[in-house]
Amino acid sequence: MFENLSERLSGVFDRLTKQGSLSEDDVRAALREVRVALLEADVSLAVARDFIKRVQKKATGASVTKSVTPGQQVVKIVHDELIAMLEGEDDAGALKIDNPPAPVLMVGLQGSGKTTTTAKLARRLKEREGKRVLMASLDTNRPAAMEQLAILGTQIGVDTLPIIKGQSAVDIAKRAKQQATLGGYDVFLLDTAGRLHIDEVLMDEVQAVRDVANPRETLLVVDGLTGQDAVNVAAEFDGKLGVTGVVLTRMDGDGRGGAALSMRAVTGKPIRFVGLGEKTDALEVFDPKRVAGRILG
Ligand code: GDP
Repeated sequence: MFENLSERLSGVFDRLTKQGSLSEDDVRAALREVRVALLEADVSLAVARDFIKRVQKKATGASVTKSVTPGQQVVKIVHDELIAMLEGEDDAGALKIDNPPAPVLMVGLQGSGKTTTTAKLARRLKEREGKRVLMASLDTNRPAAMEQLAILGTQIGVDTLPIIKGQSAVDIAKRAKQQATLGGYDVFLLDTAGRLHIDEVLMDEVQAVRDVANPRETLLVVDGLTGQDAVNVAAEFDGKLGVTGVVLTRMDGDGRGGAALSMRAVTGKPIRFVGLGEKTDALEVFDPKRVAGRILG
């Protein structure tokens, strides 16, 4: 995901660390290159600009340029600021699902990977935390999506709410809650309907479901390959629904990584998980330090 950015930065840093001494102009020139590399990775302009400003402030003082290893100092500052920019929750993977049955709302655009992510999360909760999980599809417009969740449920050994034709999303949410309570489940995941674009009908429906379900977590699933669009989608969903975290999918692809880098700075929302493939075990807790390490090689 971050190969290009990583390559670009290692070029800049190689040159920087090879120089014995650094003037403020050297640092400035290097940071200009870092800024271009960030923009090419599809980090938003404002975020890239702020980032460089912060690094510059710390990196141009005499303590850096006059130190024995000025290049390495600058690299360290960039590293630390990258982690700060990616800043996640202390434990991004720990969902607030005490008090069973805990409702978790999964929202996002159609095709973002929402249904797959619902199954991935269910599997993780079951296998790693020993939770009893129920999944329900609320996508009344797309019977195939409901079927898909049921098939995934069978594959991973997680129960899905039986499909009753003709029910509204709100009806299904109520039924899921009831079944989760009666069945002694720890958590129930509501896979809401997605659309190709954000529109009022979609948001009205998801808001109505949210009001009925009263979710402990509202996780927004966005396609990491869509770069700045992913960040815009996140800002809109958060404005309408108040999301508690983001799952970035397709981070196994050859996108440029800008969505991961800008998400927190633009939306204020933490990335909780990343999707790294189509299989139901391809979900990882988001770890800023690891991502920063990957970017800086
Ligand atoms: P939904 O419409 O949002 O529910 O999207 P789906 O869950 O049906 O996913 C759409 C497609 O994206 C499917 O082919 C998934 O296998 C694929 N997909 C989902 N998450 C990932 C991921 O993290 N990486 C990759 N490579 N593919 C994914």
